Amino acid sequence: MAEVVSHDVLILGTGLAGLRAAVEIARRTGDSVNMGLVSKVQLMRSHSVCAEGGTAAVLREGEGDSLDLHAWDTVKGSDFLADQDAVDVFVETVPKEIRLLDHWGCPWSRREDGRIDQRPFGGHSYPRATLAADKTGFFEMQCLYDTLLRYANFKRYDEMFATSIVVEDGSFRCLTAIDLPSGEFVVLRAKALLIATGGLGNLFGFTTYSQTVTGDGQVMAYRAGMALEDMEFIQFHPTGLVPSGILMTEACRGEGGYLRNAAGERFMEKYAPKMMEAAPRDIVSRSEQTEIEEGRADAAVDGGHFIQLDLTHLGADKINKRLPLIREVCMKFIGLDPILEPIPIRPVAHYSMGGIETDIKGKCTVDGIWAAGEVACVSMHGANRLGSNSTAECLVWGGITGGEIIEHVGGSNGLRELPTARVEAEERRVFGEFLEMDGGENPYDIRHALRATIGENMSVFRTGEQMARALENVRELKQRFKNISVDDKGRIYNSNLMNALETEYLLDLAEIVVLGGLAREESRGGHSRRDFTERDDVNWLKHSLARCTDDGPQLDYKPVTITKWQPVERKY
Ligand SMILES: Cc1cc2nc3c(=O)[nH]c(=O)nc-3n(C[C@H](O)[C@H](O)[C@H](O)COP(=O)(O)OP(=O)(O)OC[C@H]3O[C@@H](n4cnc5c(N)ncnc54)[C@H](O)[C@@H]3O)c2cc1C
Repeated sequence: MAEVVSHDVLILGTGLAGLRAAVEIARRTGDSVNMGLVSKVQLMRSHSVCAEGGTAAVLREGEGDSLDLHAWDTVKGSDFLADQDAVDVFVETVPKEIRLLDHWGCPWSRREDGRIDQRPFGGHSYPRATLAADKTGFFEMQCLYDTLLRYANFKRYDEMFATSIVVEDGSFRCLTAIDLPSGEFVVLRAKALLIATGGLGNLFGFTTYSQTVTGDGQVMAYRAGMALEDMEFIQFHPTGLVPSGILMTEACRGEGGYLRNAAGERFMEKYAPKMMEAAPRDIVSRSEQTEIEEGRADAAVDGGHFIQLDLTHLGADKINKRLPLIREVCMKFIGLDPILEPIPIRPVAHYSMGGIETDIKGKCTVDGIWAAGEVACVSMHGANRLGSNSTAECLVWGGITGGEIIEHVGGSNGLRELPTARVEAEERRVFGEFLEMDGGENPYDIRHALRATIGENMSVFRTGEQMARALENVRELKQRFKNISVDDKGRIYNSNLMNALETEYLLDLAEIVVLGGLAREESRGGHSRRDFTERDDVNWLKHSLARCTDDGPQLDYKPVTITKWQPVERKY
């Protein structure tokens, strides 16, 4: 039997959501609740450190902003698919989170008068993105980790790759994982689990996400019986650097940057005459894609096309002070100085609006499990997330789920029985079957082909025909995957094995994303169909749910919570 460790609480994922929950548990229990923090990478390499532009919050009620305005912007941005009760909780809580982080030492950028600064962001009708230059996520992570270090009752499990969430009789029992440095199989038991494993950007080749973001938590939850909600809604960010896809933060436009086509025209005038470049991401990405497809974009080095992100009129001082990372990345990666020349960009896969179905407090349908951050669907982003609302969501629901977990642990009677046979079966699956696979198919080729078909057929615009083709390709790839070889047969830091397991997660996810998209015969937010171009509130104002069955994903639907605002046409 594998090594077994036990804690009161397990936090799977140490990005912003996971760390915020850990701090909440530590500070409110005065270290009486014992936590295990699990991450497949070093804690400070969690993807949240890459967040750049800001965290949305209402801090200026006296100067024209209001909670209602933030809520309305979020609901309208979501194309009316957000649950409005969740949005209310969000806008009310996030200002407190900003102040908490301020007290804990987060170096927010400041105005001349010394107060916390904020900048404009897409789809927000007030400048409410709270920033730490253009390295906001890094400073937030650093601040949360520093704060956690004031407490002692936690253990870090860095480079620990979770392979499954074990649920029995409707309640959480344990995680199974590979300790990458030793190659040992580890069982982690606890009374409660928070899933905070982030997004799924690597379903696409052209993405802003690092290679580690592969939707593991979504698939482990799905396989353990939880539903995945609204998975067809993927966000394409308007400004991915060409050719790598590295994010050029929305703050570039928030600070006043322009988008131009090959003729130098600010084409957003045609698509969003009021908000122009500051319109929500789904609208700006569609506008760019239209310019590209109608032949008004420049040819790019990678054979595609690009739009120009022009910051030259902002001047050196502003760029150096407010967008230093952007300048550094452009100079290092493509040898271009944005003070002098426009940046080549195009729409890039960026964010998953869908995720594990939770209630308004982040609780999943399995007893003892919560989910927070990008992995979860609470649902406050609906069909399209507004920029700077994600780091904010991580802070809000990290805090809320932390509080809920404390209650649960306080009222529970110890650890539930370990289903030993299930754990042994998982160890055999990973080391007996997976590691020994020798069918000759290269798992990296399969991942590459998967990303190609998803990138081609599930992009800014989709059609039924394209999605049907993608589904066929994904199913073929799933068959091929049964015959892979994992080349490295060793145990110690076997990245071949980890990458193969991740690819299997991505294949499951791809099927769910495509099936959800095929079924949804309308255009809403990030799901924009050429063959069903209108939003259809009569038939499709509902969340989709995908459940795991022996016959593959089964789709179901549930209503959207509407409290204040009935859907209207979105104009910007
Ligand atoms: C380049 C970029 C810039 C962004 N900028 C902004 C911004 O300015 N404002 C904003 O609001 N949003 C921004 N976003 C979005 C935002 O950063 C993310 O949605 C958010 O940080 C996700 O945080 P998280 O805590 O949910 O997950 P993450 O930070 O991705 O953390 C996931 C954790 O789960 C762990 N994990 C995953 N799988 C496993 C496994 N199998 N076993 C063990 N551990 C596992 C990882 O190791 C990691 O610790 C940006 C996104 C990108 C890509």
